[in-house]
Amino acid sequence: MPNRRELVACLAAGLILAAAPLAARAQEKLPVVASFSILGDFVREIGAERVSVTTLVGPNGDAHVYSPTPADAKSMAGAKLIVVNGFKFEGWMTRLIKSSAAKGTVAVATTGITPQALPAEEEPGKKDAHGHDHAGREDPHAWQNVANAKIYIANIRDALIAADPAGKAVYEANATAYLAKLDALDGEIKAAVARIPADRRRAITSHDAFGYFIKAYGIDFIAPQGVSTEAEASAKDVGRIIRQVKAEKIPAVFLENVTNPRLIEQIAKESGARIGGRVYSDALSEASGPAGTYIAMMKHNISQFEKALGAGPA
Ligand SMILES: [Zn+2]
Repeated sequence: MPNRRELVACLAAGLILAAAPLAARAQEKLPVVASFSILGDFVREIGAERVSVTTLVGPNGDAHVYSPTPADAKSMAGAKLIVVNGFKFEGWMTRLIKSSAAKGTVAVATTGITPQALPAEEEPGKKDAHGHDHAGREDPHAWQNVANAKIYIANIRDALIAADPAGKAVYEANATAYLAKLDALDGEIKAAVARIPADRRRAITSHDAFGYFIKAYGIDFIAPQGVSTEAEASAKDVGRIIRQVKAEKIPAVFLENVTNPRLIEQIAKESGARIGGRVYSDALSEASGPAGTYIAMMKHNISQFEKALGAGPA
């Protein structure tokens, strides 16, 4: 028989052992899946040390045409929260949710944003090169307007609080601080655009990723490839753009990180417009690159635009 002192020691040790798994659970991070790199960055900013984020379409990846992997299905199955863009950006997501038997809450980051119509040449009723009618399709690239990014952040904050109520104060404080940074970013972009002469606020990109940017900030972008990277630009569209660049003396064409550079290089060569550099439209760069976060991406893009468009003709 153990004496009284030994018994107390045993009980105390037992209590410590019983408490250990509880402590481990309290430190466990909330598993979150983000569909693409920009959302992954947003979730990391707001969730910080309380979340463990898996991003499905990583740096420089094209979320329009993604094929999920078995590892993605596993991440989905273990996620408590799944953050998607919506506006039919991730066409592959519905199937992935079903096939992975995901049980986490799906938060649509664009909830509350009024979708913009497609650029003029793809308006409902007009059929594309493949005979598809895009009627009813909204432009998914809402993050290109910083005012919309603020709505993404509010939605992500609320989804994190719902999934992990104990972190409410942390998520609210992180969101408030980040929203202030977004206000400053919005002001910087507007100031940079104001420095570009009004008649030079026009350029070419390979796909229509900048519809929201155009409307918010007033630089006009024309794209031969349409709103998704899924369809190839037709020779007719490319010819039309080359004629337009020459006729309207459009100063620059920009390469995008998610699309093949060949098309833009051809347009530059045949129209005489200069290549204004590489911009990041639908995905961040690697962390060490020039667009490792959303804020870095927007700053990089506007600096490229200002550099190429800002000065008058050489
Ligand atoms: Zn896109």
